[in-house]
Amino acid sequence: MTTAIILAAGQGRRMGTSVPKQFLSVNGEPLIVRPLRVFAASPVIDQILLVTSEDYISYCREEIVQKYEIPKVKDVIAGGKERYDSVYRALLACEESDYVMVHDGARPFVTEEILQRCDEAMRAYDACAVGMPVKDTIKIADEDGFAEQTPDRSRVWMIQTPQAFSCKMLKAANDLLREQDAMNGVTDDAMIVERSGLAKVKLVEGSYSNIKITTPEDLRYLQD
Ligand code: C5P
Repeated sequence: MTTAIILAAGQGRRMGTSVPKQFLSVNGEPLIVRPLRVFAASPVIDQILLVTSEDYISYCREEIVQKYEIPKVKDVIAGGKERYDSVYRALLACEESDYVMVHDGARPFVTEEILQRCDEAMRAYDACAVGMPVKDTIKIADEDGFAEQTPDRSRVWMIQTPQAFSCKMLKAANDLLREQDAMNGVTDDAMIVERSGLAKVKLVEGSYSNIKITTPEDLRYLQD
């Protein structure tokens, strides 16, 4: 059984709106509806856990899941302070799952093809993250803003979601880092697995359109 963990517990401060970005209305629909539909329609997903902040639980149940008739939603649960806290709460709520696919609710352009590639890789490698090779040259800056290093571009990827894992392994990796107080600076789930050493994370092709809506300029991609 595979559970999709859809994250919508962030505040979206960089968007500068009072409503968190994942709930902004675009073309008459809250943004989160689009990725939810993709996961709900996918044959590789058995159930969905929607993670949101305490204040938005009833809104999500009534105004999203019920109103837009999204199937497969097992529950809407409260997230935590950091993204990894939100994921951990979801992991505790689906320990019976064989696999989990974690997705940012603010990435509306995920597709069935991406879910299929993720499904294949998680079964083969126990851990995978969707991303794309970078097109620009990347530089690592020093503390004063001078170029310090230029990594080999052919090996640099920008990482997206979904990221998919064996549920037991991801839970164990989270437990390990929590015990060691080693969650500092963690920005995605792949990083937790990398730090734990419990599996190697296979990088899987996503798409250049699979962006995360972060700032007001990103909203223009959503207008039809
Ligand atoms: O803040 P950022 O854009 O990296 O958030 C990525 C995703 O994680 C968003 O969909 C956001 O709602 C979610 N998130 C969460 N719980 C948090 C912080 C972020 O579910 N505490």
